[in-house]
Amino acid sequence: MADVVVVGGGIIGLTCAVRLLEAGHRVRVVSAHPPELTVSAVAAAVWYPTHIDADDRVLVWGQQALLELARQASEGVPGVTMRSSRMLLRGDTATPWWAQGVPEFRLEPPPDERFTGEWRFTVPAVQTRSYLYWLIEQVEALGGTIERRRLDSLAEAGTDAGVVVNATGLAARELVPDPAVHPIRGRILVLTNPGITVSHRDEDDPEGGVYVHPRSRDVVAGGTFEPGQDDLSPDAGVTDSILRRCVAMVPELAKARVLREVAGLRPGRHGGPRLEEDPEPLPGGARLVHCYGHGGAGITLSWGCADEVARLVTA
Ligand SMILES: Cc1cc2nc3c(=O)[nH]c(=O)nc-3n(C[C@H](O)[C@H](O)[C@H](O)COP(=O)(O)OP(=O)(O)OC[C@H]3O[C@@H](n4cnc5c(N)ncnc54)[C@H](O)[C@@H]3O)c2cc1C
Repeated sequence: MADVVVVGGGIIGLTCAVRLLEAGHRVRVVSAHPPELTVSAVAAAVWYPTHIDADDRVLVWGQQALLELARQASEGVPGVTMRSSRMLLRGDTATPWWAQGVPEFRLEPPPDERFTGEWRFTVPAVQTRSYLYWLIEQVEALGGTIERRRLDSLAEAGTDAGVVVNATGLAARELVPDPAVHPIRGRILVLTNPGITVSHRDEDDPEGGVYVHPRSRDVVAGGTFEPGQDDLSPDAGVTDSILRRCVAMVPELAKARVLREVAGLRPGRHGGPRLEEDPEPLPGGARLVHCYGHGGAGITLSWGCADEVARLVTA
């Protein structure tokens, strides 16, 4: 079994670390940020292959992650629940490519004349902050270690490891380097929850996508999806627009208060996530396995990608 350094302590790095430890490897996670300062902590985070093209590998990763998160929800893992969801449709109502294996997926009639129908389904929702800490506990319980350190290069991780897993998200743009990686800004609001239990989406709202995801104590209201934008300073106009559109979709939210405005940079990648062994080993001979560029679907694909990384490393 190999000595593996996983660079990255977001959802991707930590799920990979768990699977690698379960496969019997010795694992050290190196992360520049604490869990709450990763992009993963910003995520809404509901299972849904947002803005990802149909692709056989992505379908399998998503299905595997859904199964694992559903299992964890049934076992009471902190921050993981199954959430009844509706997606409002303004055009094509055909069953989407990702629906295979999604519990209770069905087409319902439209709620009013603006829509052509709505998909109903039940999917995992994850409160990522508490979930990241739960993942760290799993890593440590399995004998792994976590180190807070910024590496200047992936080669630095390879000096005392047989394998390096690159789970650095957006930072892969410079570390690999990979010019296909780019930021996709997302702005969301966290609101008080006036009693909402169902997740709502309208991705084709002419003014921009809208979603409302209830959590145990609050509601995530979103949100923007802005490729190429990396300015995280607050924008009152966007806050007002998100709130107005979310209230129009879910009128009960008129009673909600804004608790905070949050923004994050999704690790987008032209061509989709990169999950493969680099044909070039690192200087010093360590193997390099990449797992980055999950865009707006890192939680949605997490455990499926982790399974594949563990298979690649073990092969
Ligand atoms: C507003 C918003 C809403 C979202 N909603 C959803 C959703 O509903 N469902 C969903 O599936 N996804 C959602 N996402 C996307 C999801 O958050 C990302 O796909 C996911 O978090 C990416 O995880 P990651 O582990 O690759 O990256 P990150 O969480 O960014 O982690 C990267 C890690 O690499 C480390 N690192 C980077 N550089 C170095 C270095 N030089 N040395 C050491 N460590 C380094 C960092 O410290 C960090 O630990 C959302 C994102 C946003 C912004």
